[in-house]
Amino acid sequence: MTREADAARIMARCDELARITAMPEGILRAYLTEEHRRHNALAASWMAEAGLEVWQDAAGNQCGRLEGARPGLPALVIASHLDTVPDAGRYDGILGVLLGIETARRLAPHANQLPFAVEIVAFADEEGTRFGATLLGSRAMAGTWDPAWWEATDAEGITMAQAFWDFGLDPEKIQDAARAPEDLVGYLEAHIEQGPYLEAEGRPLGLVSAIAGARRFKLNILGEARHAGGTPYERRRDALIGAAQAVLDVERIGRDRGVIATVGQLEAHPGAVNVVPGEVEFSLDLRAESDTLRDSAWDEIHAALSSFCAQRRLELIVEEIHSAPTVSCSPTLKQALAVGVAETGDSAPMTLYSRAGHDAMAMAAVTEIGMLFTRCEDGISHHPEENVLEADVALALRALERTVWTVAAEH
Ligand SMILES: [Zn+2]
Repeated sequence: MTREADAARIMARCDELARITAMPEGILRAYLTEEHRRHNALAASWMAEAGLEVWQDAAGNQCGRLEGARPGLPALVIASHLDTVPDAGRYDGILGVLLGIETARRLAPHANQLPFAVEIVAFADEEGTRFGATLLGSRAMAGTWDPAWWEATDAEGITMAQAFWDFGLDPEKIQDAARAPEDLVGYLEAHIEQGPYLEAEGRPLGLVSAIAGARRFKLNILGEARHAGGTPYERRRDALIGAAQAVLDVERIGRDRGVIATVGQLEAHPGAVNVVPGEVEFSLDLRAESDTLRDSAWDEIHAALSSFCAQRRLELIVEEIHSAPTVSCSPTLKQALAVGVAETGDSAPMTLYSRAGHDAMAMAAVTEIGMLFTRCEDGISHHPEENVLEADVALALRALERTVWTVAAEH
């Protein structure tokens, strides 16, 4: 079977999965739902057909294993996720799972030459659509499941623990999904880029250097709410003027430093047409290729906001609500992926960092990670118009297969 035929099968299966999990509002596959059951069953059949031994783990992840030269060797894991955001596209996550399955199918006839096993994993929850917390499937596999999640509830008030029982899983057994570092050789993930950089450079594939960890803040600017008609400019302590300046400063400093800085929420109080705003609450999301870059941008933003607020007699209150470290990809696996991409005709592949989070971030807690990006049309993702080229999928498959043999040669 040619790689072109395998790529055509991957495209058809992305369509098939989209079809069977289409809701009136678009594609949605959420954790521990009927759609989850359906996509696991389908993934299990694809894995079995490719020659893998299949099982569902204690967190609801669908797994498949190809033994190497002898049974029971540590595994090289190739994975991504099958869950989606609401009204999702057809390729985010699933493309990486299907590339893994097709890679395993191509490896299977030669598996006795592999010094490790190959496992393909379809993670059950990466997006956090149902319970808010993200990377649930990969955190379970990495052994970093947070017990606080059992009490997390979905929109209907169903707790995570109850949803486990309803799905036929036992919360008490969650540790069974965890893998020990000595049982793993490494972790590879192929994923659509979800950004425009590869397409802009005319490259089908790219290497990932790191996955940006975000810092998120809740910021409040306090002034004084007063009658808009009766309060002269020099008497005003207008919190919204402070917040407006803050939004502009955030963008300016982000651009200057090559950091992604976003204010996504902003609310003025009391929010009346004839009252000077006395308080504004807004959010800030910061991400960059390295923690140093991100943290120094925050220092400058904080200083700029503090100084402007002082000039305007406003008070700035800062609360950090989330912080995740940037995760670096392993130089060894990145080099192996570079050999793989070179096989497709690009001997000096583009390296970029991931602005979005991925399962690989969680798996980095337990093994070395490497990531391959495939170009996506116009950088569109988390949207029904998400699209990839079948020819790029064939190239990604070629690159992954070569990568596995490169890792094998160095093992
Ligand atoms: Zn994804």
